[in-house]
Amino acid sequence: MSLSVQIFIALVASVIVGLIAGPGALGFVNWWIAPIGTIFINLIKMMIVPVVFTSLVVGMTSLGDTKKLGRIGVKTVVLYLFTTAVAIIIGFAVAGIVHPGMGLQLSSDAAVTAKQAPSIMEVFVSMIPTNPVDSMAKAQILPIIIFALFTGVGITQVGGEKAQILIKFFDAAAETCYKIIGIVMNFAPIGVFCLLLPVVCKNGPSVLLPLISVIACVAVGCVIHAVAVYSTLARVWGGHSPLDFFKGVSEAMMLAFTTCSSAGTLPVTMKNCQENLGVSREITSFVLPLGATINMDGTALYQGVCALFIANVFGIDLTMGQMGMIVLTGTLASIGTAGVPGAGLIMLALVLQTVGLPMEGLALIAGIDRVLDMFRTCLNITGDAAVSTVIDQTEKKYAA
Ligand code: ASP
Repeated sequence: MSLSVQIFIALVASVIVGLIAGPGALGFVNWWIAPIGTIFINLIKMMIVPVVFTSLVVGMTSLGDTKKLGRIGVKTVVLYLFTTAVAIIIGFAVAGIVHPGMGLQLSSDAAVTAKQAPSIMEVFVSMIPTNPVDSMAKAQILPIIIFALFTGVGITQVGGEKAQILIKFFDAAAETCYKIIGIVMNFAPIGVFCLLLPVVCKNGPSVLLPLISVIACVAVGCVIHAVAVYSTLARVWGGHSPLDFFKGVSEAMMLAFTTCSSAGTLPVTMKNCQENLGVSREITSFVLPLGATINMDGTALYQGVCALFIANVFGIDLTMGQMGMIVLTGTLASIGTAGVPGAGLIMLALVLQTVGLPMEGLALIAGIDRVLDMFRTCLNITGDAAVSTVIDQTEKKYAA
């Protein structure tokens, strides 16, 4: 039985057991069960700093020789980041209209109020670490991201054999982090059960329904983003009608939907773009692997929806400053999201931590994460393909 099915079963089991046990069992559950859930969350938290740092450095160094790639590199990265930021905003907009989780008020020890939002200038100043080790020790994500970006650029500038040593090191370190996350995720069914049981015991049956609204928000948001943003990119700058574009990339979209892995879908995305959309091999071989590593519009959109959902559920009003923070962190974090199933959940932990939202929300999302992953991965690779058509067309003009 696959892990995602096990996690789903754990979610359902926790609801059934929680409903049968009811508030009377809370004493026992809080004493014996809840700590196991906390251990699971701590294991996930343990990996945030290492995985963000190593995979961001790898993402940056995979840009390669920045001088040679120059224009294409900058154009691609700017487009990737721009579409990602738009995706989170669409996620917010959809969730803002649907209000997933509204009406469900979880009372939980973790339901602390969100931190006081700092001003934008304060955010920018505090993004620059004075001591990266201190930032890592305190799990301050934005400074870590900035330090990782500089490290990546520094390694690229060093070049040659010395750079290769470091690139290989960080590549191996990132790979190791993914493996550890894989090990931790094996315990997800137990972790999810133990996290949710106290919540269900305390709050009753009202916990399940709002999850359906989260799935609906992510699905609808993905469709809106694809139709509005990718159709526009493909038609206006990519030289394809939206129908042509989506038909051309449909094989990769279906594969992404079923495998939940951008990286695993990459060969098919490249094939579709080359054969069906006429994107040159030179462009696909740079833009698409980079996209599978750093461009995660679906993941970003999902973070926007989930953050609002968790805020709703725990009765926290997000300020504009905090939403801005989610857009910023989510966009930068998407660079560090691996194109493998479930990676987005770890990044969600990171976003929650940065904004000060309760981590317990993660358990609710974890139970349905695989379904959300299908939609977001599908959007992730479609975004890569759309950007590749734009880069291809605009580069043709230079060549002419
Ligand atoms: N599964 C996604 C991907 O491969 C990443 C994520 O979990 O959001 O693109």
